[in-house]
Amino acid sequence: PPLVSLRNVSKRFANGTLALQGMSLDVGEHDFISFLGPSGCGKSTALRLVAGLTRLSSGDMRWSATPAGTVAGKIDRDLGFVFQEPTLMPWAKVFDNVWLPLKLTGVSRDAAAPVVHQALEMVGLSRFADVYPRELSGGMKMRVSIARALVTRPRLLLMDEPFAALDEMTRIKLNNDLLSIWREHRFSVIFVTHSVYESVYLSNRIVVMAARPGRVIDEIRIEEPYPR
Ligand code: ADP
Ligand code: ADP
Repeated sequence: PPLVSLRNVSKRFANGTLALQGMSLDVGEHDFISFLGPSGCGKSTALRLVAGLTRLSSGDMRWSATPAGTVAGKIDRDLGFVFQEPTLMPWAKVFDNVWLPLKLTGVSRDAAAPVVHQALEMVGLSRFADVYPRELSGGMKMRVSIARALVTRPRLLLMDEPFAALDEMTRIKLNNDLLSIWREHRFSVIFVTHSVYESVYLSNRIVVMAARPGRVIDEIRIEEPYPR
């Protein structure tokens, strides 16, 4: 079965805003899906629904064929989430920031060390385990945030405009590195962006969305993008 399956999902917020209407989507193994569309079209809402950060108003969502909501603990371990802000703890070293998701599931600092170092290596920051976030550039903070999201080896990585606040050169570098990591580690990705460039460069499926009221208007499958 698909990793995640949405059927005719809609979301209306408490204030009456219809943010998403009739969305259907199957996320497969090793998919790299972009949600592409203008500001306000419901991309973040769709991502947050998949993450279980907000509840759907109608429709059906399943995780590996299990109705979502019945498997909360399992979802946490199978999901990594990267926000536009790196959201690191400023008082904690890079190592401890990346350890956090494991710590929350009861893994000691010592036991976590090899996995934390692997995650930092993945994003090219093995030499920075012992520094504090304030000593890092914006791009490096984002790399730490990616390492933290991947440290539990999730099957699905959710990214909400992760590189939007970074300068162009840093962004290109991160796009390239994200692609290499994804190719090697074979998780699935949903990547929210309003950049056509990013969606075409990164994804094999582009879900195109339009505002009023948050609807999917097209899905583009890229058969032969860049060499993968
Ligand atoms: P849910 O149904 O997922 O619990 P709510 O409608 O209760 O969502 O709103 C969640 C939070 O989002 C509230 O704290 C609210 O203040 C905030 N919020 C309200 N309107 C907006 C908006 N237009 N954009 C972003 N956040 C908003
Ligand atoms: P995008 O990520 O494509 O910019 P969003 O999913 O953030 O769009 O928002 C879709 C619509 O829902 C927008 O009109 C936004 O203002 C509204 N919205 C987002 N979050 C909330 C909330 N918590 N409460 C009320 N309205 C919201």
